[in-house]
Amino acid sequence: MSCESEAALAKGLQELCLATMRAQFEAVARQATAESWSYAIYLLELVQQECQQRRQKRIERWLKASKLPLEKSWQTLDLKRLPLKVTQQLRALLSGDFLDRQENVLVFGPPGSGKTHALCAVSQELVRSGRRVLFTKGGLLVQELLAAKRDLRLPAMIKRLTQWEALFIDDLGYVQQNREEMEVLFTLLAERYERGSVLVTSNLPFSKWEQIFKDSMTAAAAIDRLVHHSVIVEMNVPSYRMEKAKRLKGISDPPPSERPGNDG
Ligand code: ADP
Ligand code: MG
Repeated sequence: MSCESEAALAKGLQELCLATMRAQFEAVARQATAESWSYAIYLLELVQQECQQRRQKRIERWLKASKLPLEKSWQTLDLKRLPLKVTQQLRALLSGDFLDRQENVLVFGPPGSGKTHALCAVSQELVRSGRRVLFTKGGLLVQELLAAKRDLRLPAMIKRLTQWEALFIDDLGYVQQNREEMEVLFTLLAERYERGSVLVTSNLPFSKWEQIFKDSMTAAAAIDRLVHHSVIVEMNVPSYRMEKAKRLKGISDPPPSERPGNDG
């Protein structure tokens, strides 16, 4: 290929925004010659490299936009300490089918049981498989909704949130609401009902959601919408931090049978 043709090809690929093909066409052409590929196979190889690179870039962008804490990943999630049923539920969520059905996921359990980590791990895998998830903290989300309402842009904000297939609300129970805060949260949940998934973690069982929504009618209405199509995960395991602290203590403090001078 002449220098002019090469330059023209590079320019054309740049104009078409095919950066990977532009960077690779010469190297792949050498490989094609060495391995006697047909023209079509050569083109296929370049197209596949371009697609692969774009997919990877898109996932990186979406991971960043998701605001998920990436260290809470599936790899770092210790499944052995979770009940079998929970492990099965989490594994089933990885397929992302529940997002297609606009189902919600509600994770309950005491503080430190691993609710946030487990749901972040699932969410991160979903983003990696091409789904869109946004992580928010309950308290912060409510403040943002309130600010939006004050500026008369609450409908716009709720509409913007529909671009995410799953809205992850971490720690719904910690939200310290007055009536106005409860109302914007309820509006969001009502608007999202059957339009997009909501993923929630909470230390508060449903029986205590009156504390969140201030009155039993609103709490019942919110629960009704969330639960209607949902997967409920009960993480009834002790605090991970507490267990870890106990284990560490156990190492520095061996059981009586292993203490020096004890031959019994
Ligand atoms: P919760 O949201 O239930 O209060 P977190 O998910 O924040 O609990 O977990 C508390 C800490 O323990 C975090 O640092 C988390 O990474 C860790 N942790 C909890 N469960 C597990 C687990 N099964 N495997 C690995 N780390 C865990
Ligand atoms: Mg948490």
